[in-house]
Order: sequence, then structure tokens, then C-alpha cells
Amino acid sequence: MRLDVVTIFPQYLAPLDLSLIGKARRDGLLDLRVHDLRGFTHDRHHTVDDTPYGGGAGMVMKPQPWAEAFDAVLGEAPGEGASPRARLVVPGPGGAPFTQATAHRLAREEHLVFACGRYEGIDERVYDHARDVFEGRVEILSLGDYVLNGGEVAVLAMVEAIARLVPGVVGNAESLVEESHEDGLLEYPVYTKPASWEGRDVPSVLLGGDHGAIARWRHEQRLARTAARRPDLLPPSAVLSGEAELPIT
Ligand code: SAM
Repeated sequence: MRLDVVTIFPQYLAPLDLSLIGKARRDGLLDLRVHDLRGFTHDRHHTVDDTPYGGGAGMVMKPQPWAEAFDAVLGEAPGEGASPRARLVVPGPGGAPFTQATAHRLAREEHLVFACGRYEGIDERVYDHARDVFEGRVEILSLGDYVLNGGEVAVLAMVEAIARLVPGVVGNAESLVEESHEDGLLEYPVYTKPASWEGRDVPSVLLGGDHGAIARWRHEQRLARTAARRPDLLPPSAVLSGEAELPIT
């Protein structure tokens, strides 16, 4: 999978060299490239922002560097990994929520381009231009209902959530199946050795080796945990049957 990130703070993306994502890059599973938006400016100060038309506080990102950055990312020779069907993701608090389902959908793409906004955001005409350049494959996605200083933190989160779903990035693919948000419920509580620690014991059902009982207990815990912490996620069937009213661990 090819991933391009355009930002005015390339060093913000340095953590993508670490851990599983870093290993996947070194193994050739992910071709992740970070581009400095200022490299697409032509003035002495490498200006990427200007005052907003209509007045108001803050600065707005100028359109021209973005257009050149998109051309450069898409213009790289196919042999270099650029895909003619690239999809542009622009993180923004006014976008559609980025969810696990979004991560699954984007993990099936060949080539994703991320545009990290800063200041008050990007000149609106860039979105229209991008829809032409990316042939409509443009989406604005929000990490949550709060405002960050820039798109970089959102891209770090999105790339991690997407990349770990790319086959081979997480060594044991089974570990992805039972996670929170995979089927709407949160994950059950997990424990490791020792069986007793500081007077707190691992639930006895997990020590008995009865796989049926363990699976039932875990399902009950998932329902109870979801009911307690995220009742908005519960399937109506679980609410109606009262299944979700078990005590939470
Ligand atoms: N003035 C904008 C508004 O009210 O919608 C907020 C701009 S914010 C200070 C600067 C940049 O941070 C945005 O262009 C976007 O790239 C990023 N950003 C902020 N909050 C975000 C969120 N919840 N999800 C994704 N990106 C976000």
C-alpha cells in the first residue's frame, strides 16, 4: 500500500518509523512518504498561509502549494508506486467520523494521500480542485468532536488504524478479529500472569480451560462493558433481551 502525507511539519510523522508500522515499511508492505508542503512554494519565505477574505482571526492555507503538492504526488511514475486511483483524505473536525469501518474501507485502497491542514484550515477551493484531480475520490474525515492544532495527529491515528488492517502488518491476524469496534461491541477484559497479584485474582473461569465457558464469559463481559461505557453502541437486540445488564468486571 502506498501512503503519502503532505504537511508543513514532516517531523511530526516521525513515529511512523517505529513499532509495527516502521517494520511494515522496512518489510516493503507499506510505502509511506512524507512531503513538506513548503517545498511547493516559490517565495523566499516559503509562505503557505495568508489572511482570510472577509476578515476574522487566524490564517488560511493558500491553494497554490496544495495544487502543486497533489500534482507531484500523483505525477510520480507508476513504477515508483503512485496509483492513478489514489484517494485523498483531508482530516478536519467538520468531516465525517473516522471509525473502524472507515479504517477497513481505506485499508483496501492501493494509494492514500493525506493533506494535513493547519491554522484556520485550507482554502475551500483546494477541495474543489482536489475533486477534479483525484476524480472525486476525496473525503474529509474527523478524528472526533474536538479541535486539534493540525491534521498531523489525526493522520498518525488514521494511518495506524488503517495500516494495521493491511494483511501482514500485524503478525497474528487473529488478534484483529475480537477487538473493540470490530462487531460493534467493546473488547472483554484481558489478564496475564500472575494469576493472583496484590490480592487481586484473575477470574477463575479463565483458569479452568473450559473454552465454551470462557467464550460465554467473554461475550457477557463485552455486552456488560459496552452497556456501561458505550450504551450507544449496543445492538437493539441486546437491549431488548436484557442481555447487556450483566455486572461489569
Ligand atoms: N477552523 C477549523 C474549524 O473550526 O473547523 C479548525 C482548524 S484546526 C485549528 C487546524 C487543522 O487541524 C484542520 O485543518 C485539520 O487538519 C486539523 N484538525 C483539527 N481538529 C481535527 C479533528 N477533530 N479531526 C481531524 N483533523 C482535525
